[in-house]
Amino acid sequence: MKIIIRGVVQGVGFRPTVSRIARDLGIHGYVRNKGSYVEIFIEEDNKVEMFISLLEKSLPPIAKITSIELLNEPPDEEYDGFEIKESKDAERTSIVPPDTAICEECLRELFDPNNRRYLYPFTNCTKCGARFSIIEDLPYDRERTSMKLFPMCKECLREYLDPNDRRYDAQTISCKLCGPKMYLLTKDGKKLFIENPIKEFAKAIDEGAIGVIKGWGGYHVICKISEIPRLRKLYKRPSKPFAVMFRDINSIEKYAYISETERELLLSPIRPIVLLRKRVFNEETENIAPGLPYIGAYLPYSAIQHILFYYMRSNAIVMTSGNLPGKPMAITDEEALRLPADIYLSHERPIVNRIDDSVVKVYKDKTFIIRRSRGYVPLPFPVDHNYKILSVGAEMNITFTISKDGYMFTSQHIGDGTDYEVLEFLMSAIEKFRRMLKIKDFDLVVADKHPRYSTREYAERYFENVLLVQHHHAHAATLLYEHNVGSGIFFSFDGTGFGDDGTIWGGELLYAERTTYVRIASLKPIRLIGGEKAILEPKLSYMSILRAIDSTLADNIPEYMIEVSPTTSSMGRLLDALSYALGICERATYDGEPAMRLESLLLIGEGKPLEVEIENSGKMKVVNPYDYFSEIKNLKTKKEKADFAYKLIYGIMNAFMEIASEYSEKFSIDYVGFTGGVSYNVPMTEMFESLAREYGLNPLLHNLTPNGDAGISIGQNYIASGLILSGEVNVSSSSRKDNKDRG
Ligand SMILES: [Zn+2]
Ligand SMILES: [Zn+2]
Ligand SMILES: [Zn+2]
Repeated sequence: MKIIIRGVVQGVGFRPTVSRIARDLGIHGYVRNKGSYVEIFIEEDNKVEMFISLLEKSLPPIAKITSIELLNEPPDEEYDGFEIKESKDAERTSIVPPDTAICEECLRELFDPNNRRYLYPFTNCTKCGARFSIIEDLPYDRERTSMKLFPMCKECLREYLDPNDRRYDAQTISCKLCGPKMYLLTKDGKKLFIENPIKEFAKAIDEGAIGVIKGWGGYHVICKISEIPRLRKLYKRPSKPFAVMFRDINSIEKYAYISETERELLLSPIRPIVLLRKRVFNEETENIAPGLPYIGAYLPYSAIQHILFYYMRSNAIVMTSGNLPGKPMAITDEEALRLPADIYLSHERPIVNRIDDSVVKVYKDKTFIIRRSRGYVPLPFPVDHNYKILSVGAEMNITFTISKDGYMFTSQHIGDGTDYEVLEFLMSAIEKFRRMLKIKDFDLVVADKHPRYSTREYAERYFENVLLVQHHHAHAATLLYEHNVGSGIFFSFDGTGFGDDGTIWGGELLYAERTTYVRIASLKPIRLIGGEKAILEPKLSYMSILRAIDSTLADNIPEYMIEVSPTTSSMGRLLDALSYALGICERATYDGEPAMRLESLLLIGEGKPLEVEIENSGKMKVVNPYDYFSEIKNLKTKKEKADFAYKLIYGIMNAFMEIASEYSEKFSIDYVGFTGGVSYNVPMTEMFESLAREYGLNPLLHNLTPNGDAGISIGQNYIASGLILSGEVNVSSSSRKDNKDRG
């Protein structure tokens, strides 16, 4: 019997696993790489089922099977046992494995004084290590990674060639003899190759230094928790939360609660930053994440970080992306030296693909992905077509997605499109994906409808006939894709998205299918005083709401300002206004701060939903909770405020669910989804889920795709392919513009 297996099955320790299981079962045959798939031959047909079930249970951590095909073929020769066949000519897969935390076996070697990789900072094997961050092109072999600068020594080569070695076919292995070296970097750019640079660096951090350290996909800024006030001044980040890397799970538990799902994520090969509920509220936890109920915690994933903790006394250190505000993370020594610090630790291996740490938040057994980057990217999402479509996301938390041959490849976190360097990164990252995926021209290019988004500007500058997709439809489509359902009603809640009527949407109830949607209801639109300024000044959102109730409540605002104020139905701005009015947040010092701070209040609030008005507005309905805002000034204690906020938000969610329920009955729709940046809010998700069940609807939540704008490019891509499949959009329409137009 011949077995064809597709997925992430090459260069990830898949064949040695196959070989071990086959030998355990006394199977005769072989395993071989065949370009886009792995071929296995088994003489004993009666053992095939057992073999597959064992294989699925013992897959190496990064490996992923997307399909298994059985072919009834006779053997072309007799097999004495089970062998791994060489495949010299086979073209390799187009699926690149992500960067993966150091595995148990490598970790044991790392701290074994008798091992030749004892305390060697680039220890890895087929199952683990930096991959995406150092790959230049496909096929994936050493020559096309930044390890090409470090030819293997004799002993590494022996491991690489031995089918029975766990480093067999591991493209990027190295050792103290042949691998890159670490060094301290002086402020004027000199490299100091001293005896033990990591030990030196660790000592400085313990003594209170702020350090910059080069990792796999970028540089990090690190310091002890007690040094945070100085770090905040130095980086002009008065209250943005910092991620903290802990020595181990026990060290995290002193600061935060960890659920079973959270523990699994923290220890998984992805090793994301997980937002955990604070266990204690003291000066330390307040310094880490001011005013927020969560701490972003993660565990060491690279050998460098493990060695750092080995030499350091501290059990917890700030480990945050090394970038200046709004800029992409540093990936060269030159960029790193622009970051203020007392000491710099670097190494010789170039970073090819910048990739930030991933950030997630857990809701029950669901993973809400805030930033899908290291550990996830570039693992693709399977999809039902072969078209080559590029979608470029929105404006904040940009990612792009490229589809090809039945997969959607979503990029790493790019950043906010308001910064020029971020846009340069976007363009170079798209070029790198194109090269890796061997795509010359796209069949279609997709962008957000917002006329002023730099991503749309980029798309229209370089490509003909760009397809424009409405923002909240894209959010809904991301969830439709993830759950593979044809239609549903969606709470598409966020801060800003350009609406079809030219106003700013953000509190939207949509009926959505893959290629079309209907706006059923929204928050009642108001004039937003100051427009985009209100994102940083929540007071403006509050004034706007007061003025909407009664123009005399905010009569000190000049009429000309109202004239130029955009109309919005944004849920994000409503949360900002509530946060401001309750005295939780005066000013936003980073995107989303007022709403994030409000969550800590909602978590302790309780009560029944307030009765919120639903009005008719043309063909749709609008939810009008604004009258309640005039009551806020009478609230005194924190508990009163928390309960009020809870009941008001619950009331708003209830009003939307009531409309959704009516609509679903009329058109027999089963599903109701919660998406957009607001859906990261845990208390609101709880309200959503329980209301959905009360009204007899099936709730859809995110788990694999990002809830917020980092997921927009997936929805855009899915909508575009749907339009091609249904014949509504012609495929040859997005050819590149002539060279003379470029740049
Ligand atoms: Zn390993
Ligand atoms: Zn070596
Ligand atoms: Zn959005």
